[in-house]
Amino acid sequence: MKNKIWLSSPHMGGNELSYIHQAFDENWVAPLGPNVNEFEHSLEEFLNAEVKVAALSAGTAALHLALIECGVEHGDEVICQSMTFSASANPIAYQGAIPIFVDSEPETWNICPLALEEAIKDRMTNGKKPKAIVAVHLYGMPFNVDEVMEVANKYEIPVIEDAAEALGSTYKGKACGTFGRFGVLSFNGNKIITTSGGGALVCHSEDDKNKAVFLSTQARDNAPHYQHSQIGYNYRMSNICAGIGRGQMEVLNDRVEARRKMSAFYVELFKNIAGVTVFTEPNAQYFSNHWLSAIIVDPAKAGLTREDVRLGLLEDDIESRPLWKPMHLQPVFANSPYYGGDICEKLFENGLCLPSGSNLNDEDKKRISNRINEIFK
Ligand SMILES: *Cc1c(COP(=O)(O)O)cnc(C)c1O
Repeated sequence: MKNKIWLSSPHMGGNELSYIHQAFDENWVAPLGPNVNEFEHSLEEFLNAEVKVAALSAGTAALHLALIECGVEHGDEVICQSMTFSASANPIAYQGAIPIFVDSEPETWNICPLALEEAIKDRMTNGKKPKAIVAVHLYGMPFNVDEVMEVANKYEIPVIEDAAEALGSTYKGKACGTFGRFGVLSFNGNKIITTSGGGALVCHSEDDKNKAVFLSTQARDNAPHYQHSQIGYNYRMSNICAGIGRGQMEVLNDRVEARRKMSAFYVELFKNIAGVTVFTEPNAQYFSNHWLSAIIVDPAKAGLTREDVRLGLLEDDIESRPLWKPMHLQPVFANSPYYGGDICEKLFENGLCLPSGSNLNDEDKKRISNRINEIFK
């Protein structure tokens, strides 16, 4: 019997269990301990020595704390890339703030700098300056950092960089997650490395990190009893999960290489198939970890829709998935303003993510290529 081929599944490196054993041996079975500290240090080193990283229970928690630290409050407006996973936008609602969605650009599939400026100007004309901008490096592809930061700096609005899918990606040689006022990482089970569930907030000062740790551990003031002058959260990463993270950091570069090889595999596979474009970097300034490989199917040229491809793959138990459905099309955000055109709507209509795991072997790839060739025969 054939195994299911997954879009993206966990891929252990080998040393994860020994760090977990260490935690048990020393009885650090808690949301703090040596694994948490070491995991944070290895992330700081990987990103660059200047940043300070707070390990948290989820990427979503990191986004929430970033918004709080940017001063986002009830009734404020926050700009958010529409083409993304709902976790980029949900924490805006947790704060009682209003998400203002912005279209993507065709080159990176990420927030369009022109539509971003249009949105800021229009909101300011309406009397409200957005409190923050959530920009996403979708599927590992860096957003247009120079132009997005230029617009953000011009209007002095902090950027929260959602790098949940982009650990290991770089723009002009600099790590994604380190450009904004805050960066957000995720170690969910389907991400490029995993802690079974977890995330991190990338900060640019010890103060910002300390504030995140304070808020993530129930905002306890300095007193012998439990004293609170702010609302806190239970968002810290456990020392067990961080043990998995330590093991995963040892193989992160291998994982990036393997995911990039999957992308190269699809570029080769679709080279001679009309009407299909594989999502690749617009130029050499962009380096994607290719967390997920994705294609655009042009039905007029391919003679097939992306649903035909998805269902065709499913017949051989090969998982694929349409691109993220834009947030401004989601029922839950139906009342939120939207700026831009139909770029992200078209991407959603014709785009498909393909199996991209670093643990796919030659046999899996053969099965995928045979099936694709059959679908497009
Ligand atoms: C996975 C993901 C998140 C959320 O991370 P969790 O660790 O699952 O909470 C946020 N944004 C994007 C773009 C993601 O893909």
